[in-house]
Amino acid sequence: MLTLCKVLAADLPGCVILPHDTATFKQSMKSYWAQQEREAVPACVVQPRDVEQLSVTIKILKREFRQRHRNAAGAQGAGLFAIRSGGHSPVPGASSIKGGIMIDLSLFNEVTPSDDGSSVVLGTGARWRDVSRALEDKGIAVIGGRNSAVGVGGLVLGGGLSFFTPRYGPVCSNILSYEIVLASGDVVTASASTNPDLWRALKGGSNNFGIVTRFTARSFASSKIWSGFLWMPGFQAPKVLAAFHEAVNQVNMYDSHASGPMVCFSYVQQLRIQIITVNLVYTKQLEENKWPACWKNSSFGLLWRLWSTCKVRTLTSASDELNSLSPYGLRQVFATTTIKNDPATIAAAHTAYYDAITLVNCVKNMAWTFVLQPLLPKWARNGDANPMGIDDGTDEPLVIVGFTINWTEGRDDEFVKDTTRRVIEQIDAAAAANRTGHRFRYLNYCAEWQRPFESYGEENWQFLKEMSKKYDPEGLFQKGCVGGFKLDVEDGAS
Ligand SMILES: Cc1cc2nc3c(=O)[nH]c(=O)nc-3n(C[C@H](O)[C@H](O)[C@H](O)COP(=O)(O)OP(=O)(O)OC[C@H]3O[C@@H](n4cnc5c(N)ncnc54)[C@H](O)[C@@H]3O)c2cc1C
Repeated sequence: MLTLCKVLAADLPGCVILPHDTATFKQSMKSYWAQQEREAVPACVVQPRDVEQLSVTIKILKREFRQRHRNAAGAQGAGLFAIRSGGHSPVPGASSIKGGIMIDLSLFNEVTPSDDGSSVVLGTGARWRDVSRALEDKGIAVIGGRNSAVGVGGLVLGGGLSFFTPRYGPVCSNILSYEIVLASGDVVTASASTNPDLWRALKGGSNNFGIVTRFTARSFASSKIWSGFLWMPGFQAPKVLAAFHEAVNQVNMYDSHASGPMVCFSYVQQLRIQIITVNLVYTKQLEENKWPACWKNSSFGLLWRLWSTCKVRTLTSASDELNSLSPYGLRQVFATTTIKNDPATIAAAHTAYYDAITLVNCVKNMAWTFVLQPLLPKWARNGDANPMGIDDGTDEPLVIVGFTINWTEGRDDEFVKDTTRRVIEQIDAAAAANRTGHRFRYLNYCAEWQRPFESYGEENWQFLKEMSKKYDPEGLFQKGCVGGFKLDVEDGAS
């Protein structure tokens, strides 16, 4: 791999960082959110400054991939390279690669609004904080991430849930065009009029078709929003679960400025306490710093709380607050499932979370968090069509169940992963028994053992496989870039 790094360095002067460039190399590795990702040390980091340099990188990697394929008679260039934008995926190897080539897209960080304010070009390596800061002064916003430190690239390519999703749909459904470097090294546009099939495939297709450098996102007039957290002690759980169920049922009636409420139940091992947080957001500027009627009149408005941080603030401030609850440098696991908004299934999911506390209590410095948030089929119908298969023709609200767990010791990795998997399986079994499950698994919350593309439905999955064969016939992004969720294309190599 060192020889390949040298070839890249010769053709891309100033773009290749080797481990002996200690400070820059360390800085690049530190930008991962999850500690496990930082520990997968690549042979070198390639940091292209523009799309031409990225194209050269891909052409060199493609040559190497072919070479290996020839030499190893079909073994392909397994694990040749990884792609990273904001480095927030907690899935091991999604954007990191031990001993391989790591393509760091952090220099693609432009945020350029169009003259008429109707769209914004976003570099894949920008963080959502860069985006909201650049747009706030102009009185516009895009349908983007809720956590300021998360990267644009991974979130948009995995679908994207935003404060603005009830109004406009998933983030990916509001991308007018993509600039992408294909496996051939060609730089192409994917939009409604140019390569429209690729345009659709990129809406939830993750890193399976090429490397996206720039997204042109729809924008709209926006000013301050109302946002914050209610903090409550763990014993409020039954009331919070009931309030969540009720609010999600009524969400259909709220105006679409009310974002989906996000409810988190956390067990903090160090303090041996349970804490509940509820994130409430209303995206329209209010005249007074008072609760908007939809939340005040909801069951959340009546809940007794320790304190509330809800107030009128900028989008940056709201997303910074979410980020302040997600510290860098810890070991991390995410896992998810989707259920209907059924009280018995929600209660069973909470019980599965709660019962596991005694099991995970042995994990040092652990925060064991169970998250509920709504996803309405009608939200998924907003914006441009995507292949995620969320809309199954009914109007029944869905609930995305998530686990986000952090801890400090590597020796606990397998135990945490296995326990989380068992808890998810328990929830799925309860949902199956109640007939309240749903096949969708949100890719950006999936654990490494989950299969998000299968969850999009057979037709959508087949479509994505066909797009892979069309735009990457030799399977560079299936077998050379192995990290993240792959499509299981039967015949990746021609
Ligand atoms: C603290 C936290 C908060 C979050 N909040 C939200 C939220 O509000 N809404 C939401 O929807 N999700 C949220 N997520 C999930 C988030 O969307 C995913 O973790 C996402 O993958 C992060 O994107 P990234 O660019 O930072 O990640 P990376 O780790 O850099 O990339 C993730 C995956 O995308 C691929 N990829 C990245 N850029 C490109 C590119 N340009 N071309 C091709 N492939 C690429 C990578 O190879 C990798 O497989 C959150 C995650 C965390 C950790």
